[in-house]
Amino acid sequence: KLGNETVKAELGRATWKYFHTVMARFPEKPTQDEQDALRTYIHLFARLYPCGECAEHFQQHINKYPPQVSSRKAAAGWACFVHNEVNEMLDKPEFDCNNLGSFYDCGCADGEESETG
Ligand code: FAD
Repeated sequence: KLGNETVKAELGRATWKYFHTVMARFPEKPTQDEQDALRTYIHLFARLYPCGECAEHFQQHINKYPPQVSSRKAAAGWACFVHNEVNEMLDKPEFDCNNLGSFYDCGCADGEESETG
């Protein structure tokens, strides 16, 4: 069966937006339980990603570069790095991970102080 590249790309954009927003909201000083939750989440996310070929590749990336879950900064930086690995594989430009800032704002006003003010 022929794939649909437009639909696959739409799913990718929506998913990356969500994935990076999860990282941007991860605690700055996570508990052990929160770190375990994020690590487990990332492994299941990779395993269950709806595009099978993508899931296969992404699982290889996270085996090579294990999730960094010690802090928000570490998690966001790791996610940016692995997204860049996918960008490279697909001949897309590299994203400057120093420019993450408040790029992934969840729009939720529930008491979290913002990174950038
Ligand atoms: P996307 O890569 O979707 O990025 C969306 C936006 O995120 C960009 O416009 C930019 O503003 C920002 N961004 C870009 N890079 C970064 C970064 N490093 N960190 C933070 N923000 C960034 N497609 C395939 O054809 N084959 C695959 O094997 C494949 N594997 C995938 C695996 C996963 C886990 C996901 C989520 C998607 C995968 N995709 C795959 C889809 C692919 O990565 C793109 O989402 C899709 O091709 C659309 O690309 P895009 O150019 O719109 O930008």
